[in-house]
Amino acid sequence: MENCIFCKIIRQEAPADVVYETEELLAFKDISPKAPVHVLVVPKKHLTSLDDLSAEDLQLAGKLLLGIKEVAARLGVSGGYKVLTNCGRAAGQVVDHLHFHLLAGKQFDF
Ligand code: AMP
Ligand code: ZN
Repeated sequence: MENCIFCKIIRQEAPADVVYETEELLAFKDISPKAPVHVLVVPKKHLTSLDDLSAEDLQLAGKLLLGIKEVAARLGVSGGYKVLTNCGRAAGQVVDHLHFHLLAGKQFDF
């Protein structure tokens, strides 16, 4: 996707503080962190949101979940983190490339 900021990060056309990468996934620090640990885990394949996921993405969906777990372990927050994805404007989605927020290091009221 030409103008998608996360696709640009994946293509290394935009900067990011990458914490984890596989053939299919990228994890990088959120530019505007809402917690001491705030990382975004994204598929390299452009999917707009969870609504865009289909049966052909079954393996990718599993790899995303395992990737989130792996990032949490690497950041030393296993057993104490929150995972969140916003789907659509009504839920607060701003960037239209599927991403999971991995948050840790504070008390959350949601
Ligand atoms: P959402 O509201 O779920 O779409 O969240 C989008 C998230 O992406 C926000 O937390 C932003 O701070 C974050 N974000 C937007 N642009 C960038 C960027 N260039 N690098 C890192 N994080 C970004
Ligand atoms: Zn994209």
